[in-house]
Amino acid sequence: MQTDTYRHKGMRRALIQILREKGIRDERVLQAIEAVPRHFFFDKAFVEQAYQDKAFPIGEGQTISQPYTVAFQTELLKLKSTDKVLEIGTGSGYQCAVLLQITPSVYTIEYNRALYEKAVLFFRKHGLRPHTFHGDGSEGLPQYAPFDKIIVTAGAPAVPKSLVRQLNVGGILVIPVGDENSQKMLRITRVSENDFTQEAFTDFKFVPLLGKSGWEADNL
Ligand code: SAM
Repeated sequence: MQTDTYRHKGMRRALIQILREKGIRDERVLQAIEAVPRHFFFDKAFVEQAYQDKAFPIGEGQTISQPYTVAFQTELLKLKSTDKVLEIGTGSGYQCAVLLQITPSVYTIEYNRALYEKAVLFFRKHGLRPHTFHGDGSEGLPQYAPFDKIIVTAGAPAVPKSLVRQLNVGGILVIPVGDENSQKMLRITRVSENDFTQEAFTDFKFVPLLGKSGWEADNL
């Protein structure tokens, strides 16, 4: 069992300072990141890398997102403690753990079976209780919709229509959209039953969203 020492907490505080300097302002997001021991998501040999503001391999060709990316996406969600949230791309479970600091109602789906199983064990071991699913999340979880917030943590070729349909009125979808080299972060808000607004932010580089409304694995 890994421990969370004063040294780790100090490294987390330094990371929070970096995130502030990079423009993250939402105090609840910063507090959530400060509360989650990111080194728990790393193999012991790589603990030193956990508090650098960098993405890191988690196996299966996937990554744990860079802390700045996690903070940026979470801030765009304008999360409330009563929100029901869907995360697409559980990966290591880190983003999910950050979301759970702000709201207890998190649904998370992962396509890769090995990563899904590892994340489920991790959540259980650490007493975290998201609703976990294995499968293609590119079309959301229609049977559990609507959601107040949806966050996609893999790069999509386009905004899946099924995802915007699963938002409550007032709900927000945050999704990186582009080609395999670069994706623009989009925030889509459902302002009424039939109306949506779209805002575009800076470019990021994510691993690809696979599946029916994502990229075909064979084309990558
Ligand atoms: N949120 C993760 C974290 O905090 O570690 C980072 C996720 S990683 C950048 C993207 C994840 O999306 C990968 O684990 C990948 O297997 C998953 N993924 C890709 N396509 C998916 C799909 N259609 N449905 C669900 N998960 C998908």
